[in-house]
Amino acid sequence: MSGALIAGWLRLAASRIAAERVHLTELDAAIGDGDHGINLHRGFGALEARLAAGDFATDAPGPLLVLAGRTITGTVGGASGALYGRALLRAGAALEAWPGGSVVTSAQLAAVLRAAVDGVAALGRSRPGEKTMLDALVPAVVACEAAGATGVDVASALHRAADAAEAGARDTLPLLATKGRASYLGERSIGHLDPGAVSSALLLRALADAAAGGA
Ligand code: ADP
Ligand code: MG
Repeated sequence: MSGALIAGWLRLAASRIAAERVHLTELDAAIGDGDHGINLHRGFGALEARLAAGDFATDAPGPLLVLAGRTITGTVGGASGALYGRALLRAGAALEAWPGGSVVTSAQLAAVLRAAVDGVAALGRSRPGEKTMLDALVPAVVACEAAGATGVDVASALHRAADAAEAGARDTLPLLATKGRASYLGERSIGHLDPGAVSSALLLRALADAAAGGA
């Protein structure tokens, strides 16, 4: 997983978030404050601009993820900005700790995703089943860990992770929100998708597609 792949992923994510921003905002309007698409569009737009301007003076994947995490934390706003920023920082730190600083096997990929998702859970004091982004992210990590244990390649593991994230996002529909703004609605949160779970699935699908494209 090269720095070029990470940069390609972030660009693809930015364009898909731009395309989905109204949908993401509508999902958040139903059970939150209607800004999720706006928040992510602002943050990923800033990231895209910084990549295009050559602002990140590194080609190494770990440091690039750390810089991306700082940008997201500083520009997204809302709960999701802090949480996605933390995920990127933790992923970058996990990569930087390894000799070579890059993901080569799907087992390594699973360890990086696990570090990122554990960072979200710790910051959000949350766990799966509470109708948050973790309901997409945790199944994705579990799928990736299973793929890693059987030794499939990184692109296939990411494909399975994205499938699991999309299923997890769909499965937020009947859940009762107990974390974040949606929890203020109590039972009225039931019957809606969690916006952060939907955006998490989008981000993982973009990563899988970027990897499949050989970036
Ligand atoms: P805000 O809620 O501050 O308006 P956003 O609308 O951008 O921020 O993001 C909302 C999303 O953040 C939710 O749909 C949920 O997935 C996620 N979220 C909120 N609080 C938590 C938490 N404590 N743990 C995990 N995810 C959370
Ligand atoms: Mg919101």
